[in-house]
Amino acid sequence: MNHDCPFCSPLIEDHVFMETTEMLAVYNISPILPGHSMVIPRRHVESVNDLSENELDQLFRFARIVTKQLITFFKAEGFDWSLQESEAAGQSISHVHLHIIPRKAGDLEQPGDWHSRLQESKKELIDNPLRRKLSKKEISEIVSSLKTFIA
Ligand SMILES: [Zn+2]
Repeated sequence: MNHDCPFCSPLIEDHVFMETTEMLAVYNISPILPGHSMVIPRRHVESVNDLSENELDQLFRFARIVTKQLITFFKAEGFDWSLQESEAAGQSISHVHLHIIPRKAGDLEQPGDWHSRLQESKKELIDNPLRRKLSKKEISEIVSSLKTFIA
């Protein structure tokens, strides 16, 4: 628990659409494409190196399950996963998070543009001048539709 961390804030609960004892799947407040979500450990862990073996296993096993659900729900064809470690690599929030971005043919002008779009985001859950932020109502609708779909 870190009080300055948006992923440790109780407000994150509004974004959670799947969870396990160790992991949360949260919907991004300014998605670069429909379905853009993140898997994060419940525990405040800054580096992949500080995850327990169990958390590391769960991060990827859970991410695979979450990705399958997102692909079906958003009728996507594929996905991008991205995990940035350290500010030098573009990590914006110092709590391990794996981005999951469902993809469809032609969804971006260049298929590789997702990465620069991701880099436009500095504080995914706080403010984001370059990407539109979903309203509380939009987040709540999408999170509840996902929960219903997955249940
Ligand atoms: Zn945290």
